[in-house]
Amino acid sequence: MNEVLVKTINLVKNFPIKGGLFSREVASVKAVQNVSLEIYKGETLGLVGESGCGKSTLGRLLLRLIEPTYGSISIRGKNLLEFSRKQLRQARRQMQMIFQDPYASLNPRMTVESILDEPLKVHNIGGNRKARRERIFELLNLVGLRPDSIYRYPHEFSGGQRQRIGIARSIAVHPEFIVADEPISALDVSIQAQIINLMQDLQEKFGLTYLFVAHDLKVIEYISDRVAVMYLGKIVELTFSKEIYKNPLHPYTQALLSAIPVPDPKARKQRIILTGDVPNPIDPPSGCCFHPRCPLDKVEACKSVEPELREVAPGHWVACHLV
Ligand code: SF4
Repeated sequence: MNEVLVKTINLVKNFPIKGGLFSREVASVKAVQNVSLEIYKGETLGLVGESGCGKSTLGRLLLRLIEPTYGSISIRGKNLLEFSRKQLRQARRQMQMIFQDPYASLNPRMTVESILDEPLKVHNIGGNRKARRERIFELLNLVGLRPDSIYRYPHEFSGGQRQRIGIARSIAVHPEFIVADEPISALDVSIQAQIINLMQDLQEKFGLTYLFVAHDLKVIEYISDRVAVMYLGKIVELTFSKEIYKNPLHPYTQALLSAIPVPDPKARKQRIILTGDVPNPIDPPSGCCFHPRCPLDKVEACKSVEPELREVAPGHWVACHLV
């Protein structure tokens, strides 16, 4: 699993805030800050953090659905930011997205057949109408929906079934890399495991690579090979899934893990309550971005020097002066 499929170097995304008489840029939201990341072929990289920490923005940047402010993104070693429109269209076939809200992402006026036919037509694959329809039946079968679903509209399905349609649409064009942006957080708990199992089955069948975005570390544990923890636009810890649950090193990761309910009272960890709110991404704190909320006995450098993301053990990266 060491072939790098997607790589970012010092990726930055600032969203300008305009104001004043001439609509000049008066400030910017620092959504993603210097993210350098490698995603290996065939793995699931879980990306976790509180709402607004920049994880969805990072997912969209990787697919170039939005343009970065600085930095580079490559897929299979080719710089995505240098692609022409035509190259980008071809690359989009390889890179797809599963959205959080399956209802909002499906056109309510289109039948399932039209929804699944659209990417086949856009990418000019699947042959004539009859052959495309065969492919649509195949897709429905792969995601566990009945063939007669093709005549129905999104509102006629349950939330879980709608997400299955969203998944069918994302795999229609044989992608390699899928960004799943909180794909189960809008679903009932009873349905969540089914969707995760489906995604894992499809990954095995087609060798898919996932970036699985979630705000819940518990969900990520089950599906991810590695986990990256994000705080205020930065990756603060990155390691193998088992390692992060056994040996979390960054105090933010420790606090997130301590909030997961554990049924066995003996296995429960002491809850770490973080004080204060997440700082404003328009004006992030100096030094370590976590310092205003960090429960550890901080050192002077915490307030003035930004900690680097360092490899502290093989495959275990942490951004903290005290680790
Ligand atoms: Fe806490 Fe300092 Fe480590 Fe930041 S660098 S997490 S403030 S100890």
